Parts: sequence; structure tokens; C-alpha cells
Amino acid sequence: MIPVARPWLGEAEAEAARRPLISGWVTQGPEVAAFEAEFAAAVGARYACAVSNCTVGLHLALSAAGVGRGDDVVTVSHSFIATANSIRYLGARPVFVDVQPGTFNMNPELVEEALTARTRAILCVHQVGMPCDLAALAGIARRRGLPLVEDAACAIGSEILWEGGWERVGRPHGDVACFSFHPRKLVTAGEGGMLTTADEEWDRKFRLWRQHGMSVPDTVRHSLDRVVVEEYLELGFNYRMTDLQAAVGRTQLARLPAMIERRRLLADRYAELLSGIPGLGLPEEPAWARSNWQSFCVRLPAWCDQRQVMEAMLDAGVATRRGIMCAHREPAYGVEPWSTGPSGLIESERAQDHCILLPLFHELLAEDQEAIADALRHACAATAVP
Ligand SMILES: *Cc1c(COP(=O)(O)O)cnc(C)c1O
Repeated sequence: MIPVARPWLGEAEAEAARRPLISGWVTQGPEVAAFEAEFAAAVGARYACAVSNCTVGLHLALSAAGVGRGDDVVTVSHSFIATANSIRYLGARPVFVDVQPGTFNMNPELVEEALTARTRAILCVHQVGMPCDLAALAGIARRRGLPLVEDAACAIGSEILWEGGWERVGRPHGDVACFSFHPRKLVTAGEGGMLTTADEEWDRKFRLWRQHGMSVPDTVRHSLDRVVVEEYLELGFNYRMTDLQAAVGRTQLARLPAMIERRRLLADRYAELLSGIPGLGLPEEPAWARSNWQSFCVRLPAWCDQRQVMEAMLDAGVATRRGIMCAHREPAYGVEPWSTGPSGLIESERAQDHCILLPLFHELLAEDQEAIADALRHACAATAVP
């Protein structure tokens, strides 16, 4: 059976996890500080703040953006549900705009008409690693005086062409970017998240909120030679990353260039192997974008049934996943308030119903890809609805 994803972990990560275990400093200590510095350097950010996962990172990013009860945040439904959920944690309402069919990303042409006096922020997503149109979205956000939050959960190492040069997602090009280290993403620490920003004040807030609103962090108190009593300045949370995670994350981050090189090769090979399947849609990489190819999402021929194709492929020993979900179709969004811009969510729903994710991971072999392409070709032919 070929799995749909598999993290690239080994002895180096096991060795790294030993360090905090032996030193005795196991949470939000020196490994976390080093991971933050290395991550900031890797994406070209001024500040990077580690948190326990990307979902809580989005919660803090939207808090810093001033989102609260009664506000609207313009975002996409066609994303992992954590994107929309993070808006609701603050009592705000997600306003969903449709995606572009080729990139599965927010259609910037639909954003302006979704903005109202209630809009407090724009939350865009770099879906499965494909950069969204940041130039257009940052332009709209700037003109309308709105913060732009980037859900970059999947986009570590993805690049965009910015003012003539290639830059990694996360500088950030909006006001803050949120990354994930869940095993489904390229770089994993088991769980974990990172917030990058150029705003010193936002970074200070993230650090305060992630540790209960505590005025003096443990790292500082432990290094002082006098007694300092901390205060709890604001309502905070326990959103800490452990040093075990950070140690693993640092090792993974050092492997990022190799990961991306490998995935670009695998994506190119998929494009070649799959180009002959009638009616199959391949992912589009705009000229100004370089995906990290976290996932390879194909659009099935219009005459094929998604579930039948997935079952036929499973029978052939190939695991797949349905296309990216739509939050607004889930029971959790059945009664809660959410809304769409005037143009509806036709492309989002169509992408969910007609796309599948093919296996893509570092150790996927050329012969696996050939077997996958064959399985897909046969599945498409066998399940065509006459
Ligand atoms: C994975 C993912 C998240 C959530 O990340 P966690 O670290 O698991 O909380 C959020 N948004 C998108 C688009 C994701 O793919």
C-alpha cells in the first residue's frame, strides 16, 4: 500500500530529542529560542514566535489584528476547518469568498465585494503549499486599512516573486503568517506552530499570550540572581511549544532545502506521467509562485465519480484523500453564523467534489509514481459515468 503522506524522520531527529531530555529543560526554553531564530532566518522574517500548533497561532494572530465579537473576517471556506474555526473562537463571523479553480486559493477579484463596514481582517490561505496571490491581497488590505493574516500552515519553503526577487512565504507579506508542524506538513515536530511578523508589538503580544499573560517568562526568571514575582497582565493561554518539539523541528528545518528539491522533482514527474489522462486537471503554479508541493491535488475528469475513483485506487494499493474540504458544508457550520460574499462558493464546492490528493512524500519512488499514474488512469477509465 502506498500511503498518501509520510513524514521524513530518522536518527537525526531522535538524537535531537535527546538534548532537552538530558538537559532537563523540556518546555519553551533554549531549543524553542533557537528554533525561533533559525525559523526567522529561514523565511526572512524579523520575528518568529513558537506556539503549540498553527490553530492557536491563528487565534493569536487574529487577536493581534483586533478581531472580536461582532466582527467579520473575510476568508475561504475551501480550507482545513481550523482556518474558519479560528475566527469563531473570537466570536467573529467568517465571510467566505470563492477560490480560483486552478490554484484552489482565494480569488482576489471577489474579495473587495465581500468587504463591509464590519470587516476587521482578511485571512488568506496558501492552500496545500501553493502561494495565494499575495500581491493582489496585500494591495486590497492596504487600500482598505485592514490587517492581512496569512494561514501559511502548509507553505513552509514556498516562494513568491516579490518586487522582482523570489522570497519565501513568511517574511511575511501580510501582517503575520502562521505555520504548522503537524506531520501532514513538510517540516514536522509532531505538533507545533510558528508566527512570523515584522511588527515588534505583535510579537510581544504573542509571547505574552502564549504563556498565560505572564509578565516575566520562566527563561528570564531562572537566569536572575534575585527574586522576581511575575504578574499576569492580560488574559492569556497555555500555547507553549515544548523543547522536545523545537529540537526535532530544528533538525527538520535543516532538511527543508532537500525536502523541497525532492518534492519539486516528484511534482514535475507527476505532471509528466499524468498529462496523458483524458480530462484530468493538473494543479496550476502561477508564474509568480513556487509551491513546496506539500500535496499534489488533481481534478478528476468531469465524467468520473470521486468516491469510485478513490475506491478503485485503494483496491490497486494507492491511498488518496478527497479534495480540500469546505468548512461551510460541515455540521459544525450548520447553525452557526457565517456568510458568503455575493458570488457564492461554486468553485470551492466543485473542487471539493471533483479533486483528489495523490500520494506525495519525500521517500516516494519513481516506480511508485508510475504505479499511481497507472492506477489513476485505470480508475478514471473504469469509473466513467456514461
Ligand atoms: C494543517 C492546517 C492548519 C492547522 O494546523 P495545526 O498545526 O494542525 O493546528 C490550519 N490551516 C491549514 C490550511 C492547514 O492545512
